[in-house]
Amino acid sequence: MRWTRSLIPTLKEEPAEAEAVSHKLMVRAGLVRQLAAGIYVTLPLGQRVMEKINAIIREEMNRIGGQEITMPVLHPAELWQQTGRWTTIGEEMFRLYDRGKRQMCLGMTHEEVVAWLAAREIRSYRDLPQIWYQIQTKLRDEARPKSGVLRTREFVMKDSYSLDRDEAGLEKNYELHKEAYCRIFTRCGLSFHAVESDPGMMGGAVAHEFMAPSEAGEDEIALCDRCSYSANVELAVSRPRRPTFTTWDLEEIATPGAGTIEEVCRFLQIDPALTIKSLLLITTDGPLLALLRGDQQLHEKKLAKLVGEARSAHRDEILTYLRVGPGSIGPVGVDLPIIADESLREGRYVAGANKDGFHLRGVWPGIHFQPRWADIHQVSNGDQCPHCEGSLRIERVIEVGNIFRLGTKYSVPMKAVYLSEAGDEYPIVMGSYGIGLARIAAAAVEQHHDDLGIIWPSAIAPFQLHLLPVNMRDQKMGELAEALYSQLQQAGIETLYDDRDERAGVKFKDADLLGLPLRITVGTRTLREGMVDLKTRKTAKEAQIPLPEAVSAARTLLSRLANS
Ligand code: ATP
Ligand code: MG
Repeated sequence: MRWTRSLIPTLKEEPAEAEAVSHKLMVRAGLVRQLAAGIYVTLPLGQRVMEKINAIIREEMNRIGGQEITMPVLHPAELWQQTGRWTTIGEEMFRLYDRGKRQMCLGMTHEEVVAWLAAREIRSYRDLPQIWYQIQTKLRDEARPKSGVLRTREFVMKDSYSLDRDEAGLEKNYELHKEAYCRIFTRCGLSFHAVESDPGMMGGAVAHEFMAPSEAGEDEIALCDRCSYSANVELAVSRPRRPTFTTWDLEEIATPGAGTIEEVCRFLQIDPALTIKSLLLITTDGPLLALLRGDQQLHEKKLAKLVGEARSAHRDEILTYLRVGPGSIGPVGVDLPIIADESLREGRYVAGANKDGFHLRGVWPGIHFQPRWADIHQVSNGDQCPHCEGSLRIERVIEVGNIFRLGTKYSVPMKAVYLSEAGDEYPIVMGSYGIGLARIAAAAVEQHHDDLGIIWPSAIAPFQLHLLPVNMRDQKMGELAEALYSQLQQAGIETLYDDRDERAGVKFKDADLLGLPLRITVGTRTLREGMVDLKTRKTAKEAQIPLPEAVSAARTLLSRLANS
C-alpha cells in the first residue's frame, strides 16, 4: 500500500488523557480514533491488525470443530427476562424501546440467544455435540471505559458456545477451547497465563481466564514459583507467613493512645501478625464483624461472595453496635455474627477489648469467640502456595479471554432440551468462551514496544515490510523504490510503501512508531553502491544487501521472524 493513498494519521503528541502505553501508541500510530467515551473508530492500519487476529481466531475455532454463525445485536427483552438476567444485570446493559414500545436490549453476550436457538433446533442426542461461534460486536455500558481499546463500550468479541449431552462432553469441549485459546494467544505473539477464575455473572463451576502480563491491566493474578498453581487474586488462596506465636494467657492491657494496628504493635513491641484486625461492616443483613490477621488485608470481593455487598461502618454505627470507638474493636464478648480469616485458626493474638484505650492479649480464636471461618484475605507477594512449599508472586495482567462451564444454567430456563436414546428429556449442557479482539491488539502493544513505538509480532502486524526511500525528490531514487515496491508486491510480501515527499527524519520516526517487522531503506548508498538497508524492528539489527537480492533477503528474514 502507498502511504500517499492511505489514511495513516500519525501523531507526534500523545493524547492528553491517555495513561496506558497501548492507548498512546495506538492513537499516535494512527490505528484508532476515539469518537466518544469508550467508542472508537478503527482506522485502516488498525483494521488490518484486527483482520489478522480475526483470521487466526477463525482458523483455530474451525480446527476444533466450531461452526461460524452470526447472532443479532438487537435482542427482545423477553429472552433475558426468561433467564432472569434482565434484572440481575444492572446498568451495564443498554436497553431501549422499539416503535411499538416493545422493550429491547443490545447484546452484551449471547448465552440467551444460543439457548433459544438450541431449544428450537436441537432435538435428540444425535444432534450433539455442537460448537457455535461468532465474531461480532458487543455493547456494554461499562462503568469506567478507559485505557483506549482495552475497555470500550462497543467492541468485537469472538464468543463461542458448546452444547453437550452431559458433563463429560462439556469437559471435552472445555479442554478443546483451552487448547485453541493457547494456540491463538501464542500465535498472536502474547505471553500469557491461563488461570483459575471466578465465573461471576456467567455462573457455573471454576472457570479460566487468559491473562497477558502488563502494567496496564486491571486484574491481578497469583502465580506459584514451584507448581502450576495460578489464579485470579479474587479467588486465589494462600497460606500467609507463619509468625512465632506466644502462649499468652488472656489478659486486658491498657494501650493508651494506640488505635491502629501499627500503633498497638509499636506500643507492645510485637509483630503485626500477632494481632487481630477487626472490621465492623454493614451488609444488607445488618452488622458483621470481619477478622483478619493484623498484617493481612481484606479482599472485598471474596467477602462479598460470602455475605453480599458490605461497607465499612461509620463511627456512630460502631458506637451503637459495640459501644466503643474504632481503635479498640474486638471479637470477644460480641453479640454479632463474626467471620474470621482462615489464617487466624492457629495462635493467640492481641485484639481490641471493646473498651476505649484497652486491648486483650492472649485471644484464642475458636475458644474465646466462635466465628464462621473463611478465606477473606488478599493474597500478597511471598505468601505460601496452597498446594506446595513454593511461594506466590502477584502479577498485574490484562484479561484477553475466558472460558466458562455453564452447565444447564441457561438451557433449563430456556427449555433447551434433547431426547436421549431411551426417549427421556434432558437439558443441554453448555459452555461459553470469549475473546476480545482489540484487547489482544492492545495487549500485544503493551508487551511489545520501546521508547520509539510499537514492535508488532509479525503474525498480527498490519504490514510485514516498510519500504522507505529517503528522498522522493531524487528521481533516480524514486524509480528504484517504485521498482522494488512492485517486486515486493509480486513476491506477495505485504508492503507499506512510504512514498511521501517528507524529510527522512520524519519517515524514520514514523517507521519506528508503526513498528512493522522489517524495513528496507532506499538511500544515497543505493544510488552509489547499489545496496539497500534491511533493518529488523525488534532487534534494530541492520544489514546492507545488494538491491537485486533485497526481495529474497526480505523473504528469508520475514520467515525467520515469523517463526521466532
Ligand atoms: P472484564 O472483566 O475485563 O470486564 P469480562 O469478564 O466482562 O471482562 P467477558 O464478558 O467474559 O469479559 O468477555 C470476554 C472477553 O471480551 C474478555 O476476556 C475481553 O477480552 C473482552 N472484553 C470484555 N469486555 C470488554 C470491553 N469492555 N472492551 C473490550 N474488550 C472486552
Ligand atoms: Mg466486564
